[in-house]
Amino acid sequence: RVKERGRGHYSFYQPQMNSGLLSRMKLEHAMRQALEHGRMAVYFQPQVHIGSNRIVGAEALLRWNDPEFGMVSPGVFIPMAEESGYIVTLGAWVLEQSICEAVRWSVGGRPLKVSVNVSALEFRQPDFVERLQQLLSRHGLQAHLLELELTESILLQDAHEMAARVRSIAELGVGLVIDDFGTGYSSLGYLKKLPIAKIKIDQSFVRGLPQDPGDRAIVSAIISMGKALGTEVVAEGVETSAQRDCLQSLQCQFFQGFLCSPGLPAEAFDARMREMGVLQEDDWHCGVVAD
Ligand code: C2E
Ligand code: MG
Ligand code: MG
Ligand code: MG
Repeated sequence: RVKERGRGHYSFYQPQMNSGLLSRMKLEHAMRQALEHGRMAVYFQPQVHIGSNRIVGAEALLRWNDPEFGMVSPGVFIPMAEESGYIVTLGAWVLEQSICEAVRWSVGGRPLKVSVNVSALEFRQPDFVERLQQLLSRHGLQAHLLELELTESILLQDAHEMAARVRSIAELGVGLVIDDFGTGYSSLGYLKKLPIAKIKIDQSFVRGLPQDPGDRAIVSAIISMGKALGTEVVAEGVETSAQRDCLQSLQCQFFQGFLCSPGLPAEAFDARMREMGVLQEDDWHCGVVAD
């Protein structure tokens, strides 16, 4: 007996209830408990300077290991958290964890940038910039060691207000990164208007390298554009050395992908960092190491 309470609204306890909805509700409930039960963790995936094969930064990637559901993919729970608004809580936690980790790297003598994904709803919080500033000063992280990854769609809605926000974040010294570049619907105009430090070529364009002529053309164009605009370019999802070699021949400086490493728990990331060595920004800016 499903009671309709207006379009799309049903009582929760009905036995006939759609099992997809039920499992979704269970999953969402579990997600809201996961943080306080220590079931969420921030992993770190190396970003590599292609020319020297040394680590230049790390992307923070949220992981959820649930006793009932197992490892739940961010592709499943991040959209769920975005829909329910819980992403604001989750995102604040990821940001603080990431900042703390970057402070540890600095204190340990290997200052390295940490790059944190930010969802639209988080970025739109009126106090986002203020909280960001507070976190940086509370933990004592130099702003240039933090980057925020946004998708193009974030810049579309309320474009004026979001542009102002981007500028005030850049003024703090925090780097702004466009994630999944080339997959959004926005115009390219924002690239010349806004202080964007870095663009990440979406893995869907990297996958076809080196063979696919279309992917080659797109990747090559993004790299040239980045160079002309003074924006760094990182290729995402690099899995083979053939892809890396192709990117290098197209003069891409940085990559991220399983070829080097997946996202790692903090300790394993530290080990990888000691193995590969880190490269400071000044070194590749000044050409101390060749591309
Ligand atoms: P993204 O920001 O584009 O992150 C890159 C995704 O590609 C990650 O998936 C990463 O594990 C995966 N990846 C990296 N290298 C390779 C590779 O060589 N091959 C393949 N096939 N995949 C690779 P993950 O961790 O499952 O995250 C998926 C998405 O979830 C992220 O895409 C990001 O949009 C979102 N996400 C993850 N963590 C957070 C977070 O803390 N906050 C927010 N707002 N979103 C997050
Ligand atoms: Mg990202
Ligand atoms: Mg991406
Ligand atoms: Mg993505």
